[in-house]
Amino acid sequence: MKKVLHFINGTYTASLNEDEIANINPSSGDVYAHITRGNAKDVDLAFTAAKEAFPKWSNTPVQERSRILNRLADLIEANLEDLAKAEAIDNGKPLSLASQVDIPRAAANFRFFAQAITQFSTEAHESQGLHTVNFTLRQPHGVVGCISPWNLPLYLFTWKIAPALAAGNTVLAKPSEVTPMTAYLLGELCNQAGLPKGVLNILQGYGHEVGQAIIAHPLIKAISFTGGTTTGQHIAKTAAPLFKKLSLELGGKNPNLIFADCDYEQMLKTTVRSSFANQGQICLCGSRILVEASIYKKFKQDFIKQTKALKIGHPLDKHTQVGALVSKQHLEKIEAYVNIAKAEGGTILCGGKRHQNPDYPKGFYFEPTIIEVQSNQCRINQEEIFGPIVSLMPFKDEAEALALANDSKYGLSASVWTSNLDRSMRLSQQLQTGIVWVNTWLNRDLRTPFGGTKQSGLGREGGLEALRFFTEPKNVCITY
Ligand code: NAD
Repeated sequence: MKKVLHFINGTYTASLNEDEIANINPSSGDVYAHITRGNAKDVDLAFTAAKEAFPKWSNTPVQERSRILNRLADLIEANLEDLAKAEAIDNGKPLSLASQVDIPRAAANFRFFAQAITQFSTEAHESQGLHTVNFTLRQPHGVVGCISPWNLPLYLFTWKIAPALAAGNTVLAKPSEVTPMTAYLLGELCNQAGLPKGVLNILQGYGHEVGQAIIAHPLIKAISFTGGTTTGQHIAKTAAPLFKKLSLELGGKNPNLIFADCDYEQMLKTTVRSSFANQGQICLCGSRILVEASIYKKFKQDFIKQTKALKIGHPLDKHTQVGALVSKQHLEKIEAYVNIAKAEGGTILCGGKRHQNPDYPKGFYFEPTIIEVQSNQCRINQEEIFGPIVSLMPFKDEAEALALANDSKYGLSASVWTSNLDRSMRLSQQLQTGIVWVNTWLNRDLRTPFGGTKQSGLGREGGLEALRFFTEPKNVCITY
């Protein structure tokens, strides 16, 4: 059976402790690989490799770093089919999604930052009349940590690694233990691309073991993390006394605000996607659907109809639109939320139960689920579920829609559907989220700042924000 190993100093290697974690295929429920179970000693080894690689990598001209990262992007594209298949099997997502979104985006992440670093510049401040000029150096931190979740495995893993490497850091990176496969495969591509040994080290294992050793390492200067809010809080507590720089991309409970004056067909099509793409396991999925009362009844009918028509199936089946949930534990969590909703008076409009796939009876399939709720205070409107469950609620006017949307401890993204330009501007200014989409969803220009407010996170990724995060500004003041 396949072994998922660490990639340390350019070489695949097992953990020193020889323990393993079962890697489960969510579409069949079977163990299909074993993951080496990393620990603090492995982190020390990787840190030594990264520390030794840093002086040379940080002094490699940006054009050369850029060339290597572009080669890595080319290699990801050349291996797209294999990587997409590996992602679909490891995560349970439809192959069509992995091959059209996840893997192309992983290549785009490297390509984008390969180019961005050649355009990255710093400021100068001339103190006129004082014979003084100041300029800013932007220097890489040294060894940094990148930790990513299971929902968009290679996509989010590379979203962190690419800017860290482009800026001249060396990296200890940890994918989720639930979906380690494509990060594992990336190691080999790094060698083929000519990335020097030790520049990127990929560590496998549990968060509380290998992840913990990364965040608590006194000499790792910055941590870029994407995952749950509770884990983010723990990382913040651990890193604060060590004065590490932190970027935290956390959970969400994103509202969709649907007004009667929107382009109805476009809105309906996109809302089905923003609800159930990747089985609803995208931090940006709209999980609270708020609809203007005058079109509520029609929307409800049409939305249920289109949701029921989604084809649930094996991730490798080309007709599949909804694949398997990522794990048994996650499936049980989703199921528990349906019971919570029922107990709180919610009405299950469709779905609400496991989907039995006769060919894969042990797979983790769940029906796309719509629940009508009476109050935004119910648990399914306040807690992140991160699966194929959305709630539906009417609002009477713009003021109420805004109040409902902002009534959340999270603040990642919001989607507004309206053809009224004034309204879209008013709401864009007042929504308490890091991202507002108007008449669109998951429309990403990689130059834009990405991240959340409130308990959805701290700091921004994307574009120059990421390059700023992965560098330390230093002011140099010269008088003449
Ligand atoms: P998680 O927090 O359980 O795990 C994320 C990563 O952190 C994993 O690699 C895990 O091994 C590691 N980890 C766990 N404990 C750790 C510790 N003590 N120290 C260091 N690392 C540790 O999250 P998950 O279940 O993998 O992912 C789902 C969550 O991610 C959801 O809440 C979702 O909203 C969030 N997410 C956010 C974004 C965003 O951009 N804001 C994007 C995707 C997912």
